[in-house]
Amino acid sequence: MRAVCPVIGSEQLARESGPCLGRSLWFRQPQRSSFCLIALATAALAAGCGVPESLRLVQQPRNGIPLDEHVCLVYSQRYQINLGGAERLHSFDINKYAKIYLQLVTDGLIRPEDVYVPAEIGREDLLRVHTPEYLARLRQPSALARYLESGWVTLMLPGVADAAILRPFRYATGGTVLAARLAVRYGVAVNLGGGYHHAEPDRGGGFCIYADMPIAIRVLQSEGLIRRALVVDLDAHQGNGTARCMTGDDDVFTFDMHEEDIYPFPKETNDLDIPLTAGMEDDEYLRLLSGHLPEAFDRARPDIVFLQVGVDVLAGDRLARLRLTPEAIIERDRLVFDEAGRRRFPIVMVLGGGYSRQAWQVQYRSIRRVLGRHAYRGESASP
Ligand SMILES: [Zn+2]
Repeated sequence: MRAVCPVIGSEQLARESGPCLGRSLWFRQPQRSSFCLIALATAALAAGCGVPESLRLVQQPRNGIPLDEHVCLVYSQRYQINLGGAERLHSFDINKYAKIYLQLVTDGLIRPEDVYVPAEIGREDLLRVHTPEYLARLRQPSALARYLESGWVTLMLPGVADAAILRPFRYATGGTVLAARLAVRYGVAVNLGGGYHHAEPDRGGGFCIYADMPIAIRVLQSEGLIRRALVVDLDAHQGNGTARCMTGDDDVFTFDMHEEDIYPFPKETNDLDIPLTAGMEDDEYLRLLSGHLPEAFDRARPDIVFLQVGVDVLAGDRLARLRLTPEAIIERDRLVFDEAGRRRFPIVMVLGGGYSRQAWQVQYRSIRRVLGRHAYRGESASP
């Protein structure tokens, strides 16, 4: 069975399902109850019942307020895939974006009104990277099921699939574009979503549908905000989609550290690939990262940095076999932010994958540090 890199899912289901879910790692096989749950999806979407007030406040697109005048947080409750409970058929933590947002609010690090809420990305911008044929194919649930690696999706009506699955992806992609604009203006932006690095111009894969980072690069280039970009992809899986989207573009430099023996196969070629062996631990990983980061920044000479911080490098992740501790992951992210900060490069964080029970908490701790008062100045805030 090949491993894949989804970005959302249910921890509870992962625990129930064990390491092998049959033909697909993404969803359990359809049950009779699936049909009923899918039938409830549209009603659940429309009703929005049971949504906490702090989530209701981050649905309509609007501006927020930069923290410490230079750190912007981007999130929309419309990132959430909501099928009236059927989304729990997915193997991974589908609620991680909302969990991180709510914890940041609960801990007083942000207020809902601080958050920049993005609009849905439009077709014109999707076409900056994706082919019209691919966008047309996404309207077929059978094709979408292939990209999500789940036959379960074929049970959905096309309109429900668009509203319940594709639209959240479009909002999260709009979030990465907005975060990139904010980073250029204020210095640092975090999108509590995105990092769909397996999406290619003409196909999806690994639960990635829209190539949010390449799209953001093309949009900002078209607006004259940037010319050159650096993508630092530290998810355990290689960002093959980003690499394919950026092939032959000398203005975009892709730096990718990934486990060599897991999905995707075959690997694509980035400007700087650092393949990692299974079982690698903190010291060796951080030594490799800190050794290669200056080279990536020197060669890229970017106007903006995109950082994909997948936490499937964490020891015990279901889809990868690296063995990093939470502390090393927080240090990993700090190294990149500090490198960008020292060079005064705008930087955008997107979340990517991560499929262990602890994944969202590790990501939360790293984001909490980024939101800390001194993060962008290259000093360490309390973790
Ligand atoms: Zn991954």
